Parts: sequence; C-alpha cells; structure tokens
Amino acid sequence: MTDPRIDIVEHVVAGDPMTGVGERLGPVYDPALGVETKKVRLAAPADVDAAVGAAAAAFPRWRDMSWARRQTILFNFRESLNRRKNELAEIITSEHGKVLSDALAEISRGQEVLEFALAMPQLAKGGYSENVSTGVDAYSLLQPLGVVGIVSPFNFPVMVPMWFLPIALATGNTVVLKPSEKDPSAANWIADLLKEAGLPDGVFNVLHGDKVAVDGLLDHEEVRAISFVGSTPIARYVYERATRAGKRVQALGGAKNHMLVLADADLNLAADAAINAAFGSAGERCMAISVLAVADSVADDLIGRIAARMDGITVGDGRRGCDMGPLVTREHRDKVTSYIEDAERDGSRLVVDGRGVKADGDEAGFWLGPTLVDRVEAGSRLYTDEIFGPVLSVVRVRDLEEGIGLINGNAYGNGTAIFTTNGGAARRFQREVQVGMIGINIPIPVPVSYYSFGGWKQSFFGDTKAYGAQGVHFFTQEKAVTSRWPDPVPDGDELNLGFPQ
Ligand code: NAD
Repeated sequence: MTDPRIDIVEHVVAGDPMTGVGERLGPVYDPALGVETKKVRLAAPADVDAAVGAAAAAFPRWRDMSWARRQTILFNFRESLNRRKNELAEIITSEHGKVLSDALAEISRGQEVLEFALAMPQLAKGGYSENVSTGVDAYSLLQPLGVVGIVSPFNFPVMVPMWFLPIALATGNTVVLKPSEKDPSAANWIADLLKEAGLPDGVFNVLHGDKVAVDGLLDHEEVRAISFVGSTPIARYVYERATRAGKRVQALGGAKNHMLVLADADLNLAADAAINAAFGSAGERCMAISVLAVADSVADDLIGRIAARMDGITVGDGRRGCDMGPLVTREHRDKVTSYIEDAERDGSRLVVDGRGVKADGDEAGFWLGPTLVDRVEAGSRLYTDEIFGPVLSVVRVRDLEEGIGLINGNAYGNGTAIFTTNGGAARRFQREVQVGMIGINIPIPVPVSYYSFGGWKQSFFGDTKAYGAQGVHFFTQEKAVTSRWPDPVPDGDELNLGFPQ
C-alpha cells in the first residue's frame, strides 16, 4: 500500500489531474537528500488512450483558433513563466539535483524557444506565386499535424520539453508529453501554467510513465509525430518503432563530446571552458565535454591548470549555492563510479579522484566529485561509453589531424569544440569533423533558438533537427494549392486536354 504521506505525481489530461487505471508507481528522489520524496504514476495502456484521446478531441478547436488568439495564450505563458521561474527552478533542483542557478539557466534556454515560437505567424507563412499559368496562382499552406508526442530525458526536465512544446503548440498541434519518470513534477507545473495562460483543456497533456507509456505513444494511430530525446539505444528503438507505425520521428540520442585543444590555444581559456563543460550539472548534459583531446606538447600544462581549478569546485546541495550538485540517482552515481574504478585498473592516470568528496549536503545524497583521468586509451570503456557524470578523460594527440581522426572515429557525433588561435585550423576542423554542432573556442555549442539542435551519427535518428526552422518544418505539413478563379466565367465550350501553357 502507498504511504499516504508521500505525494503522487499524477498525469494531467484534459486540463485536470488524472489517476487513470495504471496502478504502478515509480520512486522520485531528492538526490541531495538521498531519499524518496514522491511517487510518480506509471501509465497503463488505457491511460495512453485517455491522454491521446483528450489531445485528439482538442485538436480541431486549437487548429482553427486564429493565430492572434493562439499567440496571446503563448505570450501569457511566457510572461507568467518569466515571473515565476524561481518556483520551477526549485522543482528541478529538488528532483534532478542540479544547482539552482543551472536550473534557472535551463529554463531560460527553454524560454528562448518559446520566444522564437512567438514569431510563428511569420515563420509558418507559406509562399505565393501569382500567374504561374494564365489566370492561375500557386501557393502553399503550412498546417499542423494533429496529436504529437514528446518523450524527454531526466537531465533537462524543462529545457528539452521546451525545445518542442512551444513550436508544436504555436503551429496548432496538440501535445502529449511523457517526461522522465525520474523528475516528473516540472511537466505538471508547466501544464498548470499553460492552463492559467488560457490554453484550452486537452491541448497539452502530461502522461507519466515508463516503457509502457512510451510504447503506447509510439504505436497509437492518432499520434502523428514523435519528438524523442534520451540515450542512443532508446532513441534508435523509438525511431525504428515509430517510423514503422508511419509517424514522423526526430530521435536525439546520447553523446561523447570531445574538446580538441591545439598547442597554440589560450590555455587559461581552455581550462576554464573544460571545467564548465565537463562538470556543470555534474556532467549530466548531452553537450557536456567528456573527452579532452589535447596536443601532447601542452597536455601537462593544461592538465595542471584544470586540476588547480577543480580544487575550487564546491559540491553540495544545489539549494546552498554550491557549484555542483549530486547525480540523479544512487544507481547512476554507482555506475559512474565504476568507470573511475576501471581507470584505476587499466593503467590510466587518475589526476583528480572525485570519490569520497566532502559534500555540503546530506550524507545520504548521491555525491561524486569532479574527476580527471589522464592517458585514457581510445579503446577503453572509459573512452567509448557515454558516462554522463563528472568524469573528464584526457586523450593525448599529436596534432589537428590526429584530433579530427579521433573524433571522427567515435560512434557519437553530437557536439565538439576546438580551442586554437589558428583560424585555418579552426576552419579545417569545422569542415572535416563529422559532428552536428561545432564550437570554436566555445565548449558547449548549443545553437540558439533560431538555429536548430541535433547531432550526427549515433547521436541522432531522423532527418529534421529540434527547434529553429527545422522545428517548424517538423511540426507542420505543407499543402500546395493551384488555383484558378475564372473571370469572366467561361462559357464551358473550350475543351482542352493539353497541359496549360
Ligand atoms: P533514457 O533513454 O533512459 O530515457 C529517455 C526517455 O525514454 C524517458 O522518458 C524514459 O522514460 C524513456 N525510456 C527509457 N527506457 C525506455 C524503453 N526501454 N522503451 C521506451 N522508452 C524508454 O535517457 P535518460 O537517462 O533519461 O537521459 C540521459 C540520456 O539522454 C543521455 O544519453 C543523454 O546524452 C541523452 N540526452 C540527449 C540529448 C540530445 O540532445 N541529444 C539531450 C539530453 C539528453
């Protein structure tokens, strides 16, 4: 029996909390306290039907609402989100563990996509060509798809849903969001705020759950498109299953992002960048730098500068003004720790060991301090696996050529960065590297909202990236109209079976 003192995070369907028929519950932890603070409802197949049914029922009215009215609702949402984002940041920190400033930053990045979507009447305009044939005009309409599903990972419980949600809604679709079961509450908070902003019931629904909920969305006839973000094996699975069911799919997967530092780089800039990109959000970012590929001639110097900076990183409860919070669960912390144990065994050099870190927080929290490992072999598990924690591996390379070869040999292709003062080297890097998002003296090159986000190779399945122009393309379908309004009306005796000229 459920402990009545523990809150249950319920689905939000047709504007109201819904218990549904699924009786299974999952645990939700406060990672800094190391205790279960809530439960989350896990949907049964009939709950998927209820959520999709609500979204399908709301679609005609939302689709037919004028741009002006839809935009007003999204503007209201933007204003209240801006006013109340501290509340949301606290929810993120209490379930994910990232520090409050980082939670606020994630909200801001999500808000940028919302602000982009506020220009949707301009972005989703079709084209018009007058007189393509005598008296004939051609034009295109961009129309919504219908019900779309969003499935998101634990590491950005607000930003990742917001990569899709504002664009899907602004273009007239209705949505079922399946957030991560590890930090589900932010999605409900967003649903409440959208309702307050005037969003009609059923236009945005939150379905909590695990594989059962996701599979239900992937197979459901009424769901027209799936936007997925998560680990590579699941992204591939989602892509294959949902495309087989005839849906439009964009599935963003895992990563192993390299930062290449050439011998001519500004080493202080590179050291600061490495610290931020490897250990921010405890390394639980899909764009985190996890491999530092550094020119041998400056490797010892750079490692020294990074290690010195690591001494100053404070680890603790994200509500206490620390630099780095805990990992999301105990299991995940233990898995990340197992890579450090590997490093000890396989002859790599453990420069800074984050195990046993003294955290400013509850002893039971899921702590692991920042860790730096030098002389990592490209064939080792430490190098090939996405670790998704505060562990930075150093691989020494001879030069640009070897660095590009290393990056292109890696299975993932999400983000990468080069640090150099040589423009020619940067340009060659940008042209030759097989990665979707490139930083030049920028460690985490997340594109702004009016470009599009997505990796290459095993980091992405599909062909239309998230947000920006590609996001608008993903959530709309084009209709081409060829039109003639005879004037004056012909008398009907001009029979002609040829092509119009
Ligand atoms: P995950 O793949 O475990 O889960 C993602 C979503 O898929 C969750 O909603 C989860 O409930 C669902 N899911 C899990 N197992 C499933 C299964 N067997 N069948 C169907 N659905 C399933 O990922 P996570 O641990 O929540 O998030 C971390 C991962 O996400 C990392 O690999 C990270 O790189 C990746 N990520 C990628 C990006 C990107 O833009 N490429 C952004 C953020 C996170």
